[in-house]
Amino acid sequence: MTVYCFGSINLDHFYSVTHLPTPGETIGASAHHTGLGGKGANQSVAAALAGSHVRHIGTVGPEGNWALERLQAFGVDTQFVGRSDKATGHAVIVVDEAGENAIVTFGGANHEQSLTLLNSALDHGKPGDILLIQNEANLHEAAARAAKQRDMVVVYSAAPFKPGLAEAMLPVTDILVVNEVEAVQFSGALGVEVTGIPVHHLLITKGAAGVDWIDRYSGKTVSIPAFSAKPVDTTGAGDCFLGYTASGLDQGMTRENAMRFGAAAAAIKVTRRGTADAFPARDEVDALLASHP
Ligand code: ATP
Repeated sequence: MTVYCFGSINLDHFYSVTHLPTPGETIGASAHHTGLGGKGANQSVAAALAGSHVRHIGTVGPEGNWALERLQAFGVDTQFVGRSDKATGHAVIVVDEAGENAIVTFGGANHEQSLTLLNSALDHGKPGDILLIQNEANLHEAAARAAKQRDMVVVYSAAPFKPGLAEAMLPVTDILVVNEVEAVQFSGALGVEVTGIPVHHLLITKGAAGVDWIDRYSGKTVSIPAFSAKPVDTTGAGDCFLGYTASGLDQGMTRENAMRFGAAAAAIKVTRRGTADAFPARDEVDALLASHP
């Protein structure tokens, strides 16, 4: 099986600060570093580290070779990453001493996706293959629709939350993934309870409080606690969790085991600064799981 991921590729700039700036405030950063990021690239890297064959579908700018090389170094297949005249997407990520973050993103080439490239990638999709989609590109709905036509499983992260897009994606989504803030935004936009969001599977990640998988058709909810961790940077925890969880499902794990797989990976990630470059290797995740039977 293959995990497809249609989404953003960013250059992340990280700044370490004492506290997140308030409106109008200027503060100095004590450290700066860069790394591969973007919700799409993050999820691809996590799924590849977890052991899946991952094909990323996306677009970078003229200077984007470094991003392709980084993705390939993690084992991600980049043959369906196209080029645009616009700059590669980037993000400014400010992380405070408690590990909390504030993020500004620039979409750039991420908003210049090619329908032709998207369809030629998904022409390789097989029934049951997973397609991961987030909200940082364009053509989200077209991607989900094309995947559904091929009986693929559409896993949609409604992040960052965009009301009209989120609602349009629901009919073509199998598994909706939101954090607690997005869950409230989603239910508010639809005027329904969180548990009434009309989608078959709803995954709600709750940071250190763990994650719930609500299956609305069977009425069953599986809840997994988070592994205990001392966070220094929670950026990308959700993507790390989801990439590992999707790979677990791709490798035939039960929902519960796939979520534990994802939660273990994310718990290691929050102890490290960075996004994709800070995601743990499979053997580290297996070791944490083995120590918590
Ligand atoms: P982000 O936007 O920062 O990438 P998110 O808001 O999408 O993350 P969260 O709900 O914060 O996602 O976290 C996803 C998963 O990561 C959680 O369900 C949990 O398993 C794990 N996790 C997050 N924070 C912690 C923590 N402090 N300790 C242990 N595990 C954590």
